[in-house]
Amino acid sequence: MPRISKILIANRGEIAIRIMRSCMELGVESVAVYSEADRASPHVRMADEAYLIGPAPAAQSYLRSDALIDAATKSGADAVHPGYGFLSENAAFAAACERAGLVFIGPSAAAIAAMGDKTKARELMLNNGVPVVPGSKGAVEDATIAQHEGARIGYPVMLKAAAGGGGKGMRLVRAPQDLPREFNLARNEAAAAFGDGRVFVEKYLEEPRHIEVQVLADSSGNMVHLFERECSIQRRHQKVMEEAPSPFVTPPLRDRMCRAAVQAAAACGYVNAGTVEFLAVADGSFYFMEMNTRLQVEHPVTEWITGIDIVTAQIRIAEGAPLPFKQSDITVNGHALECRIYAEDPLQGFAPDPGTLLRHRPPAGFGVRVDSGVEEAGEVSMHYDPMIAKVSTWGRTRAEATGRMDRALAEYAIAGVSTTRAFCRHVLQQAAFRRGDLSTHYVENHMDPDALARVESEVARAAVVAHVLAPAPAASELLPPVMSEWRRGRQ
Ligand code: ADP
Repeated sequence: MPRISKILIANRGEIAIRIMRSCMELGVESVAVYSEADRASPHVRMADEAYLIGPAPAAQSYLRSDALIDAATKSGADAVHPGYGFLSENAAFAAACERAGLVFIGPSAAAIAAMGDKTKARELMLNNGVPVVPGSKGAVEDATIAQHEGARIGYPVMLKAAAGGGGKGMRLVRAPQDLPREFNLARNEAAAAFGDGRVFVEKYLEEPRHIEVQVLADSSGNMVHLFERECSIQRRHQKVMEEAPSPFVTPPLRDRMCRAAVQAAAACGYVNAGTVEFLAVADGSFYFMEMNTRLQVEHPVTEWITGIDIVTAQIRIAEGAPLPFKQSDITVNGHALECRIYAEDPLQGFAPDPGTLLRHRPPAGFGVRVDSGVEEAGEVSMHYDPMIAKVSTWGRTRAEATGRMDRALAEYAIAGVSTTRAFCRHVLQQAAFRRGDLSTHYVENHMDPDALARVESEVARAAVVAHVLAPAPAASELLPPVMSEWRRGRQ
């Protein structure tokens, strides 16, 4: 079996660092790539080598397949890990890596293509006995056909881009007369965002929960699931807090969902780590929404409860190794939560607020994990996703994980940009959250700007106190050659 000895990580920020950590543990060298905006980023210093791939805009750097493959070839890497976002779900990139003799750490280009088109994925699921959200068979040609479908399915409906992702190209339509206008908007948005204006119609589920199942499959035909995550707490249809297991899922429902997920992955001959996303409603029905053919942002909560390092598993699978565990070996241990700390202003509709982190002291302690790609005095760049860190906590029970998260976020000192930290604490302290009473409308239903402002001001006071106690170090002191020393020790 050919061992992978050097991996180029076609990504940046926290996920590049997350992947490097697994590389180091496996004794695999890592190659970073960076744009001009990321010269001083921690992921560049942490890698064994690093290559400049272009100017700041992602289209000229992290999305340039040719530049990435060129860097991989120059560095002598034998594999490429795409992380999430950027080219991670781009079938052409996966195929280009394979053509260049590089192992793509992910599924085959064919599986990415099969699941990347939401209409094709729906059809594949229907043919394989996996329940899908009621909707049109394939994309709809024009507004008249869409109206016809709307009448058949029943309002409200959701218009969705076949090539969709990141919540783009999605429009809710409550009444038939609004459909033609919304159809054109969805089509234009989809064409602009994905270069593919195809739109389909789906039943709009009121107050659903977003529940997804992590799967792992090796190239010898073994497949397991790592149970579910609930990701109902969202803004702009995008996740902000996640947990595992879901407080909604009973053992029989878990069994049905996890089996459906494995069936979904098997239907496209899936190999490597993937996530099958479902929408679930109060009566316990659930519907396939899409499959993400890559590592998910929220994978740490699954790692906490199963004890399985998903990135390490991905690398071993890509080498051709069989899964080292069977389904019956995998159990749920306790409960984990994740809060995504973004440079966004929750009181301004979660508008991005990039800038310099004047202070950044992440929390620590028992049961607390922080995945971050920025550091104190560093920049949250306006060019990319404004995530600062993912804080995840583990507890024996959901209540323990929640209490620990509230403590961790209270301990977290950040200054210089607005963040979602106080917002996450606001949610953690709510009775509905504590009851596990969640839906994808949680944020709009429960956000209380006054209470949030009170948590914000406590946070601001804590930051002032911390500032008095520990003056900020000069930027030059913040860049210790920690990793190079670690690496020297390893040789
Ligand atoms: P994207 O791929 O753009 O992120 P998804 O299909 O994953 O889009 O949907 C993102 C979110 O949008 C879901 O988690 C859910 O909150 C909402 N959503 C999607 N489809 C529906 C639907 N049919 N009914 C209600 N909400 C939906």
